Amino acid sequence: MLILECPCCGVRAEESELAPGGEAHLKRFGAGASDEDFEAYMFARKNPKGVHFERWRHAHGCGKWFLAARDTATLEVFGTYPAQTKAPPAELIAAIKAKRPHWEGYE
Ligand SMILES: [Zn+2]
Repeated sequence: MLILECPCCGVRAEESELAPGGEAHLKRFGAGASDEDFEAYMFARKNPKGVHFERWRHAHGCGKWFLAARDTATLEVFGTYPAQTKAPPAELIAAIKAKRPHWEGYE
């Protein structure tokens, strides 16, 4: 069972209270972007077995979007943080590296 703490309202929500929103921190390209950049933005998604950064919405709670870092294989949650964050917080990265020394890191 996946349980994530919503950073907006502080509620620890079970997966059925949440709506997944896909990969977090997608790099968007504006007008004039190359076809390759636009294709990567539209279609290319990471699907790692291990640490992954995702968007979630507290659909049956406060309704707000937030981001989460978790292990897709074990469902271990490393942390959640506000959706307005452009990159994972440094302390979250440090916590992940402490638990997963061989993790290649966030790009
Ligand atoms: Zn909430």
